[in-house]
Amino acid sequence: MDLWKRFGEKEVSHSMAHYLQAVASLKTEKGHARVGDIATHLGVSKSGVTSMLRSLQTRGLISHEKYGCVELTVSGQRLAERTESSRLVITRFLTEILGVSEAIASEDACMIEHLVSPEVSVELLRLTSFLRSEHPAARALLQAYRATPHECTDHSPDACAVCQTSCLRDSLVRDIGDSAERTGV
Ligand SMILES: [Zn+2]
Ligand SMILES: [Zn+2]
Repeated sequence: MDLWKRFGEKEVSHSMAHYLQAVASLKTEKGHARVGDIATHLGVSKSGVTSMLRSLQTRGLISHEKYGCVELTVSGQRLAERTESSRLVITRFLTEILGVSEAIASEDACMIEHLVSPEVSVELLRLTSFLRSEHPAARALLQAYRATPHECTDHSPDACAVCQTSCLRDSLVRDIGDSAERTGV
């Protein structure tokens, strides 16, 4: 019941995850990541970078000599790779299987990349790979799924036979326009 209270204790914030990813990609591109490179890469100030690097260092995710290069520790590198992979897995699932637009899929995937568990990501990846495979059952399922509209007609607001509760769809579809506005599509 009190599960939500534990979310504040998650080991990294969303910005921390993006800083780690920035360091990882600069290391790959340039072979090193300095404060100035990170600031440019993320479009933030150098002083912002310096204070974030301090928090990341306290958490044992990077090591940083004052004027030197920033290095990811083993756990920092793993976290950077995991959040990046989760983002790609979620984006693929949302666009390739659910048919959500690229703009909304990228935004949602970015929002949850650092929160989703590796257990969920790996199962989403498995499901996406199966459904995109040549397996006849997968092809038939995707085809039937895409051809079948989701309709919860003929229900009273608090009893929907399809949703098996009050209608879940009603409370979601009415806000769909807001989400398009949010991403500017
Ligand atoms: Zn993100
Ligand atoms: Zn319903």
